[in-house]
Amino acid sequence: MSEQRFSSYIAGQWVEGDGSHADENPSDLDVPVGHYGTLDAARAAQAVDAAGAALPAWSLSNPQQRADILDFVGSEILARKAELGRLLAREEGKTLPESIGEAARAGQIFKFFAGEALRIPGEKLASTRPGVDVEITREPVGTVGIIAPWNFPLAIPAWKIAPALAYGNTVVFKPAEIVPGCAWAIAEILSRSGLPEGVFNMVLGSGRVVGQAMVEHPKLDALTFTGSVPTGHALLKQAAARALKVQMEMGGKNPLVVLADADLDTAVECAVNGAFFSTGQRCTASSRLIVENAVYDEFVARAQARLAKVRVGDPLEAGIDIGPVASRQQLDTDLSYIQAGHDDGGELLAGGGRVEGKTKGHYLAPTLFAAKPSDRIAREEIFGPVAAVLRADDYEHALALANDTEFGLCAGICTTSLKHATHFKRHAQAGMVMVNLPTAGVDPHVPFGGRKASSYGPREQGRYAAEFYTTVKTAYTAA
Ligand code: NAD
Repeated sequence: MSEQRFSSYIAGQWVEGDGSHADENPSDLDVPVGHYGTLDAARAAQAVDAAGAALPAWSLSNPQQRADILDFVGSEILARKAELGRLLAREEGKTLPESIGEAARAGQIFKFFAGEALRIPGEKLASTRPGVDVEITREPVGTVGIIAPWNFPLAIPAWKIAPALAYGNTVVFKPAEIVPGCAWAIAEILSRSGLPEGVFNMVLGSGRVVGQAMVEHPKLDALTFTGSVPTGHALLKQAAARALKVQMEMGGKNPLVVLADADLDTAVECAVNGAFFSTGQRCTASSRLIVENAVYDEFVARAQARLAKVRVGDPLEAGIDIGPVASRQQLDTDLSYIQAGHDDGGELLAGGGRVEGKTKGHYLAPTLFAAKPSDRIAREEIFGPVAAVLRADDYEHALALANDTEFGLCAGICTTSLKHATHFKRHAQAGMVMVNLPTAGVDPHVPFGGRKASSYGPREQGRYAAEFYTTVKTAYTAA
């Protein structure tokens, strides 16, 4: 397995790329998952050329052909979910059950969009002019660039690639640098799915080189990006300068409000799961726990007791709750925020440092600080197992704290009050709201996305994906 080499895929051919970069296993730094070569800008541009050349035929392809191909891909991913989950767990570090669950999710998404390929809607309206017919149809948006992060290396590519192909677009997919193995696995299945050459391309390399070459290519018609706010906003400016259609899913600093009337067992489970599972590396993680004063001490005591039982370690080992941080770079970020928590005067309630594993890995204890709303750990996205707990006087104060952020991806509340749950669902400034559930954990067939700095452009997933992956045409015919 350590000898495996991951290549790019352009115009139906595997392309080796330059160099031999180690695909690191964050839970065992001595044994890489494999090696990969990176592309230069010229070869990334060739991938966009290939997608552009394949577009005319594919955009007019039979929807049954597209459905059959996506169904094949979904079935294979589902049949191989244990093997693909294992690859994901080794490469990204989430636990094996979480990884297998993500692989299954990716397969289900391909199957959902297999169905959608056969359900592309249109409308026919009466014209305001006599003797004229008006039809509204959806056509593919064109050649779509996909730039993805590392934290869901199977599911996020799936929820971008599947709708792109279902609606008749061609694709150039650029994964994050640290997950070439999962990207290769997806490309390998697509390479055997019956897709005409050039319809799907996958390019390995750095964002600055390969990602930039895609975004600057005149034949790219649309860009869907998931990643951090700084990268997303920089790409947004470039896209605006050339009027490129974009969809951007970016960071979060998601609040979980715990009211005095909450079932505290539920609240603690929601908090620990939402803040720390998947090593806190979810854009939907509840990194701000906002707890009403009346239950603050009890909530903190129960959360500490629960965290003391959480097991950090090798994601392939049974009984492990939290795997390693995905990379050295992310670990350094997490440690710098732990330092910032101390520097800003926060009180460390749990964790606070690295954990020894059986192997050399980026293990970090789930870390909880009592913090002030102005502290950096309570305001900035960390993207690791580090969360802040804040005090709220009452529901109104909790809601104000929840909304006091530049982000707006999701927001959660634990309460037994229908009145407060209903009010929160309406007034939380977020694209997704959870009541008595962890902020992380969503369904694959309904819209996903946020507000404020967290998102820009149409929603992802479910039928709402059509907004981005298609463009509308209005046709008039003299009857
Ligand atoms: P990142 O912004 O560092 O990188 C994301 C992707 O952009 C990578 O593929 C990277 O190579 C590429 N990239 C970087 N610079 C580029 C450039 N100049 N031009 C073109 N491409 C470039 O993010 P990351 O560290 O991979 O992922 C973590 C971030 O993703 C977090 O902020 C997290 O909240 C966010 N995220 C958001 C969602 C969501 O749906 N809202 C989901 C998952 C992750």
